[in-house]
Amino acid sequence: MNEFELIRRYFAPQALARDDVVMGIGDDGAVVAVPAGMQLVIATDTLVEGVHFVQGADPGAIGHKALAVNLSDLAAMGAQPAWFTLNLTAPGADARWLQAFAQGLLQLARQHDVQLIGGDTTRGPLCITVTVCGFVPAGQALSRAGARPGDLIYVTGLLGDAGLGLLQELRKLALPEDCVRVVLERLHRPTPRVAVGNALRGLASACIDISDGLVGDLGHLLAASGVGACLELKRVPVSPAYDAAFAHVGWDVALAAGDDYELCFTLPPAHQRDLHRVGSQFQCGFVQIGVIEAEAGLRIRDESGRPFPVPRAYTHFAS
Ligand code: ADP
Ligand code: MG
Repeated sequence: MNEFELIRRYFAPQALARDDVVMGIGDDGAVVAVPAGMQLVIATDTLVEGVHFVQGADPGAIGHKALAVNLSDLAAMGAQPAWFTLNLTAPGADARWLQAFAQGLLQLARQHDVQLIGGDTTRGPLCITVTVCGFVPAGQALSRAGARPGDLIYVTGLLGDAGLGLLQELRKLALPEDCVRVVLERLHRPTPRVAVGNALRGLASACIDISDGLVGDLGHLLAASGVGACLELKRVPVSPAYDAAFAHVGWDVALAAGDDYELCFTLPPAHQRDLHRVGSQFQCGFVQIGVIEAEAGLRIRDESGRPFPVPRAYTHFAS
């Protein structure tokens, strides 16, 4: 099978044909129509075998995650996803692997009405890059930079389950069977909070998705906004699975482990009522965990109000 057959067989059939795709897969470039009054938002992310997933990992989950992490970036920008490209480097054309990978990828694509419009296919060590495009009404993209002292800090969903999934996979943890299923699902098939991000336009003052852990990603938001923050530990939302592991991991995983793909956003207090009005529709839930302060840096208070040491954030190139 050459790369053209591979594309025709696995990636061209999508059960999805958006009106705004003038030319999709098959020509030298894709042509899309951007709606009047909209700005394009573009995000890209790469998954590398041995770095982001282990050798032999479930190809369906890899396909899902490759798109999900990109949709999560668009969610953080308040954008409505529309199209994506796929750059696939694989050691060979393994039919079973490709079939499962494409299914995981295209199933999530269909859920979000986002169409695969092109890409590149090469032979080499397994590596997947997805680039996703979406749009926002002109001037309304959310960013990391708008938080002001007094704004309330929120997160969606629950934190730390994906981190527990990774520890479980590395056999550094022995969770009860029902918890194992939950945390592995959260690690391998994250749910991008696209609807939440869209609803936050005009409400949130700043937003970021939590891909590398709350402490690190909130730190980026604080730096971009030129502010600091104080978090209350007792408000950090964790799952029953996390409670079961708490004796082993404490707060570190919920605060600093990656891969949750929840949103962290800040809200001017005047918008609180509007948030709760639209937020009643958010299936994942959301909760206030702290407040933006003028003094730079991140502070955490424990259950009794005392300072709690801030765990170290994860980075790819830490020495
Ligand atoms: P070119 O050599 O002109 O760059 P390619 O042979 O790389 O074109 O690709 C042919 C067509 O197939 C293009 O439309 C390209 O966008 C699409 N394509 C290539 N690889 C993929 C892929 N993995 N998924 C989706 N479309 C792809
Ligand atoms: Mg060409």
